[in-house]
Amino acid sequence: MNSTGKHNAPLGADFLRHDSAPAAAGVEGYMEHDAAVYRTLLESTKAIPWKIDWATLAFSYIGPQIEALLGWAPSSWKTVQDWAARMHPEDRDKVVEFCVAQSKAGTDHEADYRALTSRGEYVWLRDVVHVVRDANGEVESLVGFMFDISERKKTEEKLAELQRELEALSFKDGLTGVGNRREFDAVLQREWSAAQRHAAPLSLIMADIDFFKSYNDYYGHVQGDACLKRVAAVLSEAVRPGDFVGRFGGEEFVLILPNTGADAARQVVERCRDRLSAEEIAHERSPFRQTVTASFGVGTLIPAAEADPVAFVNLVDSQLYLAKDNGRDCIAAVNRVG
Ligand code: GH3
Ligand code: MG
Ligand code: MG
Repeated sequence: MNSTGKHNAPLGADFLRHDSAPAAAGVEGYMEHDAAVYRTLLESTKAIPWKIDWATLAFSYIGPQIEALLGWAPSSWKTVQDWAARMHPEDRDKVVEFCVAQSKAGTDHEADYRALTSRGEYVWLRDVVHVVRDANGEVESLVGFMFDISERKKTEEKLAELQRELEALSFKDGLTGVGNRREFDAVLQREWSAAQRHAAPLSLIMADIDFFKSYNDYYGHVQGDACLKRVAAVLSEAVRPGDFVGRFGGEEFVLILPNTGADAARQVVERCRDRLSAEEIAHERSPFRQTVTASFGVGTLIPAAEADPVAFVNLVDSQLYLAKDNGRDCIAAVNRVG
């Protein structure tokens, strides 16, 4: 390259001619030599160069590396139709539409898509496109590079999957696998708004294991943890699809029942109590048949526009305390509907 910069012609100049024709008459020998160097460079990189004539929308050049990557010989890339046809159907319309619009506007652009291989598989490509204009400023041709970005896409997909897993984990209680306090807050907010919008009843159940301190004292913390897991499983099986079960903290659980009136909520909470009783988890220190029981508070309301979800949680919590005061292993309910 000399210092005059006259060899810094953009891609799409004559060196990209399909037929390896000698350079135009009058061009010095060293120009021909440079064209050969350019071609060698282009055809030895991993990026695959190509050129499309804008008037005919036909490929005037595509690097031979395309065959190693996709299995289609350079001679089979005749027009943009071949390019579009060898694109994943889910990507095709969007990518073709975007590239055509950008090219018409004369704007350099890039697009990611899955390209079909001759083996019937797909490879993620990034096409980076430069629009070449003639002396009048009219679009003359498109030149570009295709890059194999399949490894990058795999890494991106793995990262996105890990992110989804992390997000799911951040909403789960580590011990019992039911929702945690964070998820409870999010679900309550969501269901509260939905209930307000539809003027629908919303029910909330709070459950607290009875005499759990003495369970821990007698059986130890490890078995205490196992007991919490069993209670969480029992509650999860007692609810209906769409209901939420979470651990509020310690040995307290909370259930959100969307679209559920007082009678239906009563049925759910009785099923919770009955199933826990039927589980017959041994608890030597419990006066209730020496098995693990829980006390339940339940509340139902149609939230008014100005109603406060925290006040509702406190109302249900007070029912739970009432159930404790009433002797435990029982249910106390409040209904603000109708
Ligand atoms: P009540 O019938 O009035 O509810 O009495 P209680 O003993 O269940 O209630 P208290 O609040 O006195 O004790 C709760 C116990 O729950 C104390 C604590 O050791 C236990 N606990 C809280 N979180 C965990 C946990 O993650 N694992 C275990 N094993 N125990 C826990
Ligand atoms: Mg408690
Ligand atoms: Mg308790």
